[in-house]
Amino acid sequence: MPLEFLRRKAAEPVPAEASPVATPVPSPSGSALPEEVVAQEHQLRLHYGGKTSEGVRIQAGPSAMRDLPSMLVGLAKSEIEVVAPLPIEFAGAAPTIARPSEAMQWLNAHHDLSPVTRHALVVLESLDAVDLAFDTFACALLDGETDTLGYPEYNAVVGGVAGHWDEATGDLIVRGVVGWGGKGVRGDTDRIATRMLTNILSNVLANRHALGLTPIDRPAAATGRGGVVCGHCGFASAHERAFYCPKCGMRLLRG
Ligand SMILES: [Zn+2]
Repeated sequence: MPLEFLRRKAAEPVPAEASPVATPVPSPSGSALPEEVVAQEHQLRLHYGGKTSEGVRIQAGPSAMRDLPSMLVGLAKSEIEVVAPLPIEFAGAAPTIARPSEAMQWLNAHHDLSPVTRHALVVLESLDAVDLAFDTFACALLDGETDTLGYPEYNAVVGGVAGHWDEATGDLIVRGVVGWGGKGVRGDTDRIATRMLTNILSNVLANRHALGLTPIDRPAAATGRGGVVCGHCGFASAHERAFYCPKCGMRLLRG
């Protein structure tokens, strides 16, 4: 309900002394401060929600990462888009417009993605449910509608599967990730999101290389400079502690 706060305002008449057109009346004693400032309230409530499933271990192999989009077949209501881990030059990318360096990196990395995927990344990265330092993320609209420009409504559920290479075994760990949000909230979105997450998890478990459920041991977030260059595909990882190339899954050679 994006307009809830406007409606509430209209329903409660503002007392005359707090009206925007009221001008301070000079007090007889001169320019003394009033006891309390006449304040107009401004408020915006943004609501983001997200859920992630348990991980599913997928046997390492050349097709493991390529299978990610197929895990959304039958569930996606839009084109399935795959977002690869970010290279070192985007290590600081974050969807926070008040921090121009982070925001510029984020836009440079993601401006050519679809509105659905960009919205999903804003929500899921803000919630720390997806980390493109090591995640590969296959994403689509899962429930609900988009506006005329293609951006999901606040109650639309977006997401898909995120995979990263397990630092201990080199297997691919895939989890379901769903998110929603914006200037409003609806009571049934949480329930719909849980249903979508269940459907995604069963699709992941149905993959021919799935080895079963596994606890998710996320690699520690990038803290330093990163910059380990993969000797196999040339990818310069933004993730300092990775043993496996986030992009091609081959063991990184350290000099
Ligand atoms: Zn590589």
